[in-house]
Amino acid sequence: MIIRRRTFLKGAGSLAATVSVSSLAFGKEQKLSVGVVGGGIVGASIALHLARTGAQVTLFEKSAPASGATSKSFAWINAHTSDPHYRALRLKSIAAYRQLDQQLQLDITWGGAIHWAVNSAEAERMKATVAEFDQAGYAARMISRDELAKLAPNLNLGSFDAASFNALDGHMDPVHTTRKLLDQAKHLGADIVYPCEVTQLQFNGDRLSGVATTAGTYSLDRLVIAGGVDTPKLAAQAGYTPPLIHAPGILVHTKRTKPLLGRVAETPHIYFKQHRDGRILGTDGYYAPDIPAHQGILQGPQEMAYELRQMHGERILDKIKGKLHGAADAAYDHLTIGYRPMPQDRLPIVGFSPGNSDVYIAVMHSGVTLAAIMGRYISYEITSNKLIDELAPYRPGRF
Ligand SMILES: Cc1cc2nc3c(=O)[nH]c(=O)nc-3n(C[C@H](O)[C@H](O)[C@H](O)COP(=O)(O)OP(=O)(O)OC[C@H]3O[C@@H](n4cnc5c(N)ncnc54)[C@H](O)[C@@H]3O)c2cc1C
Repeated sequence: MIIRRRTFLKGAGSLAATVSVSSLAFGKEQKLSVGVVGGGIVGASIALHLARTGAQVTLFEKSAPASGATSKSFAWINAHTSDPHYRALRLKSIAAYRQLDQQLQLDITWGGAIHWAVNSAEAERMKATVAEFDQAGYAARMISRDELAKLAPNLNLGSFDAASFNALDGHMDPVHTTRKLLDQAKHLGADIVYPCEVTQLQFNGDRLSGVATTAGTYSLDRLVIAGGVDTPKLAAQAGYTPPLIHAPGILVHTKRTKPLLGRVAETPHIYFKQHRDGRILGTDGYYAPDIPAHQGILQGPQEMAYELRQMHGERILDKIKGKLHGAADAAYDHLTIGYRPMPQDRLPIVGFSPGNSDVYIAVMHSGVTLAAIMGRYISYEITSNKLIDELAPYRPGRF
């Protein structure tokens, strides 16, 4: 029997104790059948956690796993935000990743993050941020030049005003992580179907009955839409259009080179990291500057001409080389342009659609950081019909 009433779960701390395969399995003949749209890191984590509850999971990916924003992500796991509630959620996700990493060998680099400030105004902001983070349990501290040199001997920062270290941060190869999550979901019985685009949601009265896809129709009890920047198009069929802003971002990727850096290195002007296999990646700005050459990209998702990629790639790589001893012979490989699934207020949008209570929306920036906790919470909400009050600030209906 499907319970339509949804109750609130006070204090998500009780969640781990509440969720178990046996309590949420629906019996062999009446397993809850849940579809997940999107094989990015968010959809993959939701599919895995749903599979762990005993639900019958089908994940639909129109292209290939991790082909959307996930593969173009810097993939830094952090809790950097001035919003205390959101910071606490992100800290929980860091803790959830530690568990997942142990269980599934995600190969996350838990090296923390170094920040440095190049003028006194930045240094003052940094000190205030560090004090605030530290008080909130987000291990942050100011560090001296000597300590910085020990933590990251190859960083070549020249003169700088101040530096800090966030010990809890990590970074990952998001494609590798997504594949691992999907492999485990599959191992637990989930169907991972691609290439397969969900084209239409199907309803019987006010209840979801299934989806039409490019590979046929599927009967479903519930559907999670974790389609990244494509989410609004599909969610509109369930009576809700999540408001997203257009937020492109580029990253330069090198070929493998010798190990030089085990942590994220960041200033307001450039940030970079090195994967375990030696690839360096980074960028010199969070958002594309509003200049005529960027007009197309600033208006909507589009590919970038090869020459433009090469130019930006070499330009950013030169800056990274200037900050990292030993990187001089790191060879340019490619430049990615990714489109962040960025909600209007920059906070995640998660919850049942205000237009249909069988359809769940999951769209967010910092989806790499958040995937671990969101997979856990969202699978719980879907299979238990209880709502976690910690997610209240992030509900679709807030706009
Ligand atoms: C440049 C850049 C840097 C970033 N840096 C960070 C960072 O350091 N830390 C961090 O936490 N986050 C970062 N992010 C954000 C993060 O990458 C995203 O929030 C996250 O990848 C979103 O994952 P997702 O699974 O929701 O979406 P996506 O990875 O975009 O996946 C959605 C998938 O849905 C599929 N899909 C869409 N519609 C359909 C359909 N109808 N049928 C079937 N499949 C469909 C798409 O093909 C796609 O594969 C960054 C993003 C960018 C672009």
